[in-house]
Amino acid sequence: MAEKCYDVMIVGGGASGMAAAVTALEELQKSRGKAGGKVLILESNDRIGKKLLATGNGKCNFTHENIDVSCYHTDDPGLLQSILSDFPTKAALQFFEKSGMLSREKKGGFYPVTETATTVLSVLLYRLLELGCEIVCGVSIKQIEKNEHMFQVQYHESGEERLAHGNSLILATGSKAGGFLQNKNEDPLKPAKLLGLHISPLYPSLTKCICLEEQYYRQLSGVRAQVLLKLYEKADSSLQKNKHGNLKFIREEAGELQLTKEGISGIAVFQLSGEIAQKLAEKRRMFVEVNFLPEFAERSLNEWAKRRISMFPGITLEEFFAGALHKKILAVCLQAEGLKGGMELPADSAGNKALEIITAVLRRATHFMTEVTGVSDMKQAQVCRGGLYLSQFNEKLECKATPKLFACGEVLNVDGICGGYNLHFAWASGVIAGREAVKACTPLQSSPRP
Ligand SMILES: Cc1cc2nc3c(=O)[nH]c(=O)nc-3n(C[C@H](O)[C@H](O)[C@H](O)COP(=O)(O)OP(=O)(O)OC[C@H]3O[C@@H](n4cnc5c(N)ncnc54)[C@H](O)[C@@H]3O)c2cc1C
Repeated sequence: MAEKCYDVMIVGGGASGMAAAVTALEELQKSRGKAGGKVLILESNDRIGKKLLATGNGKCNFTHENIDVSCYHTDDPGLLQSILSDFPTKAALQFFEKSGMLSREKKGGFYPVTETATTVLSVLLYRLLELGCEIVCGVSIKQIEKNEHMFQVQYHESGEERLAHGNSLILATGSKAGGFLQNKNEDPLKPAKLLGLHISPLYPSLTKCICLEEQYYRQLSGVRAQVLLKLYEKADSSLQKNKHGNLKFIREEAGELQLTKEGISGIAVFQLSGEIAQKLAEKRRMFVEVNFLPEFAERSLNEWAKRRISMFPGITLEEFFAGALHKKILAVCLQAEGLKGGMELPADSAGNKALEIITAVLRRATHFMTEVTGVSDMKQAQVCRGGLYLSQFNEKLECKATPKLFACGEVLNVDGICGGYNLHFAWASGVIAGREAVKACTPLQSSPRP
């Protein structure tokens, strides 16, 4: 069986694994001179960094100007805060600038100036090659063990069994989110399981939601709107006559909503989806209220309605709302109120009856309540909520129970909102793990060989 020895071994060659490898090799050069040290990446896919190419719709939103712990979900916010302080936005920009990548800021998010994700992958690959990183793709990890001083990773590559020894080991295997970009046969958590690490429940996040009221979504499919979403959960699970009674407000999100045949999608929905998936798994009933006219206060809509009623008495509901609501949204609001678009507004002298009808439609359009029954599966999600409990690691991202074992990126129980936050965490945790893995294994020469 072929055997080799390394200073640092990294399992997983995605964003965080590549950042860890670049940093480890740079640190080794710093401490040992040009000859540096030996770093190995073991990747199950046919190439490294495949998921990166799909990020930001192929443009790669790689960090954000407002990186803050409040934009993430984790079991250890204190530790996450220390990681983000150690590696703020400026550090991410400098990391790429050093590799020659120019970036551009748009609405707070940073992209490569070429606006293609391939650029990010290329600069990382060039840097890894220049630094002499050893990369083995298409591997299947069979066993990982640690003796007193070294880790041994046993893996299959092209049908051959191989063994690698490393002074430090970094787990950077990501998650099953965006499954079409992964090697389906390899479990990202298998290496962590082999080492006995603790894993929190996993949920898809930054993904579409499936809603109960199918009859509406079949009609609404394809519509996009700028909305305000309010997330509610049903405070008790008892069956109540009033489906929407006893709701507890959780939080709100503004942004673009995309309506699909099955329910709701778009960035605003993505931001709520991880929480929805988690609460549905805990058997809570989840509701989203959509405001299709978020920039108008109830009072100003009421005055607009009164003005229109007095100017155009007796017009149809379709005519009345033609300039205010998308045709398909109006159709569904009318249906929910038991009204028809062709119905003429009743023309009493005070316009009270007409106002009553218009107010009911407006209320529906600004408080459109929908029950979310599911989220799409992990393959379609952008990130995974859950993973290795962050609290089993210290601020160096070293496992408290197993010295010299590190983890970085999405394999950890840290997930962020859309906008460059997840890749930022991948770089931040990768750079810290790479740096600290080298510190933990120095000096290699004096370490006993297996
Ligand atoms: C469609 C899409 C768009 C996205 N857009 C953005 C965006 O614009 N901005 C942003 O911040 N985030 C975005 N994300 C999220 C971001 O891509 C991830 O959070 C980030 O890639 C995580 O990096 P990672 O290194 O932890 O994991 P990954 O990039 O998933 O890398 C893990 C690597 O480990 C390998 N691996 C897995 N299991 C094993 C195993 N058992 N043995 C060996 N190797 C293994 C995988 O093949 C993979 O190469 C997007 C995600 C998707 C799916």
